[in-house]
Amino acid sequence: MAHMQINNSDYEALTYPRINLQYFTLDENGLAKSCPLDNGRHSQACRTNLGSLELLPLELISQVLSQLDLVTLAAFRRLNARSMQIVDSMPSYRTIIRECPGVLRGLYSIQYGSQVLVEQLWHTLGTANCQDCGDFGGYIYLLTCRRVCFRCFWSGSQYYPLRVSEASKQYGVSKRSLGDLPAMRSIPGQYSMAEKYRLTPTTLLDRETVRLRAIAIHGSEDSMLSHVKQKTTTLDATYQGKLILARSGPTAVRPRRPSPAEPTNGPNGDPRRYMAIIKAPHIDHKTLYVEWGRYCKGCERSYRNHMWRRRYVFDTFVEHLRELGDIVDGVHKAPPTV
Ligand SMILES: [Zn+2]
Ligand SMILES: [Zn+2]
Repeated sequence: MAHMQINNSDYEALTYPRINLQYFTLDENGLAKSCPLDNGRHSQACRTNLGSLELLPLELISQVLSQLDLVTLAAFRRLNARSMQIVDSMPSYRTIIRECPGVLRGLYSIQYGSQVLVEQLWHTLGTANCQDCGDFGGYIYLLTCRRVCFRCFWSGSQYYPLRVSEASKQYGVSKRSLGDLPAMRSIPGQYSMAEKYRLTPTTLLDRETVRLRAIAIHGSEDSMLSHVKQKTTTLDATYQGKLILARSGPTAVRPRRPSPAEPTNGPNGDPRRYMAIIKAPHIDHKTLYVEWGRYCKGCERSYRNHMWRRRYVFDTFVEHLRELGDIVDGVHKAPPTV
């Protein structure tokens, strides 16, 4: 096969659809059972109408509905049989329910549906690539509705949501000043590849949203950083003082080291990183073709930098071959250097 010139059947032959591994993201926590959806359970026989709204063309109503957030849309859908019929016929909503209802279940489960518009979610589903690295992104980070790949959410600081107390401390603002920010409520379950249980629901804030609020309060990023640095120095000095006292006194208790008062990234692979992450396909808006991404056979045993976990769609796979070379006997052969 000539280098980089592949067709769809080559692509399918050189890749495989799934690996036998669970990541324990939000969608792998029994959402179908804990958050059942009623779509398809009701009779579509319709003897009601929407009053004066019926004067508008259906297409226009559909456009207006797509500007609603998911909780408001669900409330409208519950009005009567006609409103349910209209919502269920929206192309975006109908496709999401058919192809990836887990995304809706995830948003409702973490009580975040009021923060995401139908159109926003549809737009994200229509994109294929991770917004950080450009790989195929097989996941959505629900707190900003951002397309992301495993390797980025596993380690990126922006995918580590914060407890309110941590956010307040790390960004030098009062808890009260964060009170009106959108917050998710984690659901009890098993998270991360380490399969750790987290059974107490926790309120978490998106880190970037907190950062922007803190900058607005402090006046600038520099002034925010200098404030938290000053605070860290003070806390550290107090700790050192207590430590000296503890060492010199016979009965003094060793003081506790203060937790970081500066913005810090959470540990890689921490369960919290998985609580707002949901598996999501790419949906081509024109053809409604749905792609979940495929794994490269040439990288099946390439463990460095999580290469074997990377997923591709046709275009990103062609790019991958361009970078690493064609696959010969199950491994990439780098193209000859000229
Ligand atoms: Zn990425
Ligand atoms: Zn590969």
